[in-house]
Amino acid sequence: MSKRLYPHNRVRYWSAYDLDEICALFSDTGLHIQTVRRWINKGGLQTIDRNKPTLIYGQNLIDFLKRQNSKGKCKTAFDQIYCMKCKDGRPVYQKKIVIEQHKGGFLKASGLCRECKNRMFKSYKMEDYGALKRTFHVVDVLELYDCVTPTDKTHISAQEQKRASESGQMELF
Ligand SMILES: [Zn+2]
Repeated sequence: MSKRLYPHNRVRYWSAYDLDEICALFSDTGLHIQTVRRWINKGGLQTIDRNKPTLIYGQNLIDFLKRQNSKGKCKTAFDQIYCMKCKDGRPVYQKKIVIEQHKGGFLKASGLCRECKNRMFKSYKMEDYGALKRTFHVVDVLELYDCVTPTDKTHISAQEQKRASESGQMELF
């Protein structure tokens, strides 16, 4: 399910809003006052002070909604990584990624944002390894073991062989 988005351009930067006014801004989405209270109590929406009625600066509401809206977009395409600077999914510069293999059973890929060259990180599942190699130019694979079996360097390739011999069954460990 996609999240309901609240366009922050309806909020005036220099205005202050009470909770009813915020609901009125987004009346078409059916925004409920309880939701706004939850934003304040749990979501980190900043209020002007602790006095009643609760008032919120437009600029704080805009910041909050931007964060809120970008949360819903975190699902990036397989060949893209969420760039913290661009605040959106971005293709990887020269498709070059480094993979760190974590013992928790996932892969951490890192690469540079094609737009701003910021370093981006994304976790993939172990079974994505083959697809990662096909999609990206994997420049390095780092294995992060906690020295339990330091000589075991065949982890990924052994798993690939195992998978090749099986018929699409995704079995991890
Ligand atoms: Zn970027």
